[in-house]
Amino acid sequence: MTKDDIHLQKILESKEFQDTMKLDKLSELSNKEIKNFIETTPLYTWKEFKKTNRTSLQIDEIDSFCKTCDQIRPFHDMRPRGSGAGMAIQPLSSGTTNFYFTCVSCKKEYLLCNVEQVIDNQTIKIQKFGELPRKAIDRDKLLKKFFSNDSDNYEKAVVCLSHGYGVAAFAYFRRIIENNIIKLLDMIQEDSSSLANSQEIKEALDNLRKESPMSNKIEIANNALPEYLKPDGLNPLGRLYKILSEGVHNLNDQECLSRANIVQECLKFLISELSTRKTNSDRFKKLVGSLN
Ligand SMILES: [Zn+2]
Repeated sequence: MTKDDIHLQKILESKEFQDTMKLDKLSELSNKEIKNFIETTPLYTWKEFKKTNRTSLQIDEIDSFCKTCDQIRPFHDMRPRGSGAGMAIQPLSSGTTNFYFTCVSCKKEYLLCNVEQVIDNQTIKIQKFGELPRKAIDRDKLLKKFFSNDSDNYEKAVVCLSHGYGVAAFAYFRRIIENNIIKLLDMIQEDSSSLANSQEIKEALDNLRKESPMSNKIEIANNALPEYLKPDGLNPLGRLYKILSEGVHNLNDQECLSRANIVQECLKFLISELSTRKTNSDRFKKLVGSLN
């Protein structure tokens, strides 16, 4: 190694350099990020952002499910605010912030949440430490039905997901896909049996059922789905196999959490598309079949 190489290596290993690299990856704390954080992040999960010159975390609006209106509605912060006249504007400091939003339609339902913020020179970290009403755990009806033989693991997976326990949620979801992937392949096959390229799809599905390395399966999965199950060319089945191919060991909680969410979204998409089509075609056959 030359002197220059050693010097370069020292820079790359220095704490300052590492910090700058980390900072580059963070997004700025915007109103949109705060809204997303309040709407989706579980309790006691830290999120880190690049510091900006904002003076508070308060935002005016979020979207949330209103149980009185029985749909997603905007919720606004309707608390009266002082004019602030004559007060010096203080930069945001470490401490806590409390949010209070009310449904704009019924003005009855509310969402209250407490957030702790920790601020240093360049970053700001936030976590929720309280929330009312208690968030209902998102149990998808179709998924619940699909996993009826595996309801124990599915229940554990969604509970871990709602608490932000990423490693555990990911492990449970991997287990459920392993146990149920054949059932999913059967549903796809049944659905695609009437398509022009059904033979090609059947062959790909048969290959997926065989014992073979995961890396092959990720590629094969692309041919195993009809076009309407690949929105914008995104292949949800391939994503599921890709995730099965990855171990939990090298991933941190946050990375596992995002993969667990991907698993859930891919499954939701596939199962809801397949069962809607099945319901529609059954209804059609029943109706039209009886009209001869
Ligand atoms: Zn409402």
